[in-house]
Amino acid sequence: MLEEGPSTARDISGRVHISEKEAYGHLEHIARTLERSGRELVVTPAECTHCGFVFRKRERLTKPGKCPVCRNESIREPLFEAIDN
Ligand SMILES: [Zn+2]
Repeated sequence: MLEEGPSTARDISGRVHISEKEAYGHLEHIARTLERSGRELVVTPAECTHCGFVFRKRERLTKPGKCPVCRNESIREPLFEAIDN
């Protein structure tokens, strides 16, 4: 599914019938597995839809709760896609 195009954890959780939290857990595992097979999990970072702040330096993959700049909670979810290196 990740090779078909960008997906959110919510897309993945709905498609394979697991919780969103579980989907994020699997994504962290998938990222490491892909690296070993010469591929990469590309993450389009979450972004605040209010002020445009981008969560670039986020180490964990989960969606942030609120924006550190404007404190708004309308955060666009990160997108995940597998690519060949
Ligand atoms: Zn913001």
